[in-house]
Amino acid sequence: MEFLTTFTPELTITSPGRINLIGEHTDYNMGYVLPTAIEKKIIFKFQKNGSDSACNVYSETYDTGFQLDLNTIARSEVEWENYILGVLNEISLRTDKVRGFDCVLQSDLPTGSGLSSSAALECGLAFGLNELFDLGLSNLEMVQLSQTAEHTYVGTQCGIMDQFASVMSKSGHVILLDCESLEYDYIPIDLHPYRIILLNTKVSHNLASSEYNTRRRECEEGVKIIQRKHPKIKSLRDVTEEMLDASKPEMDSTVFNRCSFIVAENKRVLEMAKALREKDLISAGQLLYAAHHGISKLYEVSCAESDFLVEFSKDNPDVLGARQTGGGFGGCTLNIVHEDEVDTFITAATKAYKKEFDISLEAFEVKPSGGTSFF
Ligand code: ADP
Ligand code: MG
Repeated sequence: MEFLTTFTPELTITSPGRINLIGEHTDYNMGYVLPTAIEKKIIFKFQKNGSDSACNVYSETYDTGFQLDLNTIARSEVEWENYILGVLNEISLRTDKVRGFDCVLQSDLPTGSGLSSSAALECGLAFGLNELFDLGLSNLEMVQLSQTAEHTYVGTQCGIMDQFASVMSKSGHVILLDCESLEYDYIPIDLHPYRIILLNTKVSHNLASSEYNTRRRECEEGVKIIQRKHPKIKSLRDVTEEMLDASKPEMDSTVFNRCSFIVAENKRVLEMAKALREKDLISAGQLLYAAHHGISKLYEVSCAESDFLVEFSKDNPDVLGARQTGGGFGGCTLNIVHEDEVDTFITAATKAYKKEFDISLEAFEVKPSGGTSFF
């Protein structure tokens, strides 16, 4: 791309990935989640290029870029371009202040690994353009327009958690977010002497987007059935175990399992928040194992690789808990590991995983970090 030869960025933004401690698939069911940004991120560099509408975007990660015209934004055949185009489209619905710009992005955030590189991509672009062209968008507007961009241009009907965590996180805290009201609370997270270790399965079974949308429909179907008895409920977050059981005879067993996971998972998020506040690490660990069981057996968004790693961790007394984090079908497992045993655990897990799947595990520590910011 020609612009790279003279590129002199005037603005640099860092846009982080995130983990979700617990509360999987609860966001689009209007429930609770407990995410935080991590240190791995996408870095965006921007310059205005003087043109009215011609823009260049280059991803160093993919060693490829594209040109676009702000006056003719439309969906692309190339997947990653749609995250960019979707955000530009959403911004254009709110303001006409954006002009020609060039943007280069670099990343140390694995893609498709459940760490939400997609939200980092959307939110970093929105944040950067907001600053570059003084758009006056609030953080929440950037979060919401990024989520909508993923719906309309990428086609994943994601909840709001990923974008919210990427923009709003605070170092040393997790965010207890109520996805219905968008009220939130920062909860300090002190796991000492334990660490958060991610094991990247390196698999990303290509089901994620379609299965994601299917789960969403199944949950909506469950809500409709429960509404026959309880017309006032709006989402699964309003449903108790008793209400769900009462509607069980009218439900397909798959729909029942999906709903039953979400109802239990919402409870677990609140229990986890309490465990963190009380520094009850044993309970925190057990909640992770319970969550993974539901993810695997009831919501059925795990896979052999993630299940293997979670089971493997159970044999190690220095691991308090583990579960697959992110939308599912691979990506990373999140493990709470004693600081003295981190290396031993990683070495043993790497060996066992290689033997079972012939894949080299990637393992790293993550620390709860701040949201999108200037570099
Ligand atoms: P996750 O959000 O868990 O990483 P997704 O499938 O939701 O997984 O999003 C990953 C997609 O985001 C990639 O396939 C790609 O289209 C886009 N993406 C993420 N990071 C980059 C990057 N550095 N450069 C270009 N595209 C990226
Ligand atoms: Mg994503």
